[in-house]
Amino acid sequence: MTISPELRHAALAATGFMPEAEGDALHEAALLAAQTCPRLPFVEIGSYCGRSTLWLGDAARRAGTVLFAVDHHRGSEENQEGWEWHDATLVDPDIGRMDTLPRFRRTVYDAGLEHVVIAVVGQSPIVSLHWSMQIGFLFIDGGHGVEPARLDYLGWTPHVASGGLLAIHDVFTDPADGGQAPHDEIYRPAIDSGLFEPISACGSLRILRRI
Ligand code: SAH
Ligand code: MG
Repeated sequence: MTISPELRHAALAATGFMPEAEGDALHEAALLAAQTCPRLPFVEIGSYCGRSTLWLGDAARRAGTVLFAVDHHRGSEENQEGWEWHDATLVDPDIGRMDTLPRFRRTVYDAGLEHVVIAVVGQSPIVSLHWSMQIGFLFIDGGHGVEPARLDYLGWTPHVASGGLLAIHDVFTDPADGGQAPHDEIYRPAIDSGLFEPISACGSLRILRRI
């Protein structure tokens, strides 16, 4: 089962960084997780303007569960002014800081997914500290620096239920292809912990199963 044609169109039109093939792989993995972990919620770390959120939201809706979409909506380091991935249309002029929440809300509203996608606006390490729910599908695509990636690994992966899946974006084995933090601080430690096994990959997306 793939994302509905309307939502695929919306996802591809949405601002963001999720390539189509990887979005499809994300959708497929989330549905797979829901088979093993029925009704357990999905969690996305790093929603930005809601592009990957639409693939996950569609999967959550089909699975009869919800997606908690965690983001402080102030952008990662590489989204700030002067960096490669800056988008000046996402700056709140009154305060001079990034604010992706309005664009995110609009994306989710237009997609008709407001009953499925629950925005959690806050810093990921603080939210994870107060989190106690088991997670069926966890997607980590937040800050890609060493420290944010490490904190996402430490804070969120313990909540993945046995049989649930962990998806990590922007995992590059070769430094020439991109930053190493998702690989070194999330992917590698998850496997080395003996608690996760790799099950599939698509582009820079890696899917692991919690043993
Ligand atoms: N998944 C998105 C891209 C995410 S970009 C897509 O498909 O397009 C990374 C996002 O992580 C940014 O929106 C940024 O605000 C968020 N982020 C980075 N560090 C964070 C932190 N410590 N807490 C919460 N959100 C964070
Ligand atoms: Mg990404």
